[in-house]
Amino acid sequence: MTAKTAWPKNVIARYLTPGGATVDITERPGYYDVAHPTEHFITCHGCEDTHTEDWGWDAYHDEFGKGPQPDFDASGESALPAARKWAQSHAETCRAIPKPTA
Ligand SMILES: [Zn+2]
Repeated sequence: MTAKTAWPKNVIARYLTPGGATVDITERPGYYDVAHPTEHFITCHGCEDTHTEDWGWDAYHDEFGKGPQPDFDASGESALPAARKWAQSHAETCRAIPKPTA
């Protein structure tokens, strides 16, 4: 059922909880004055818990004018593994059942 459902725009990874809710990783601008993504934002649609993995200054500053830059954090590592790790571990333990939509 869930696998056949179209993913919302910007969702780059999705995890399923035992309760049948999804935990979605999206990319989004983390600052009001930029249009390009600067962080991974994770939302659990079961319990509505959220988590942010900021990509750091390089993603925000965009000093080379190349638009969205790779999702590297301050140490030069990609923030995606950390985002996936949070989403994975949350999805494994979250027991909240998503509220049915009318
Ligand atoms: Zn949850």
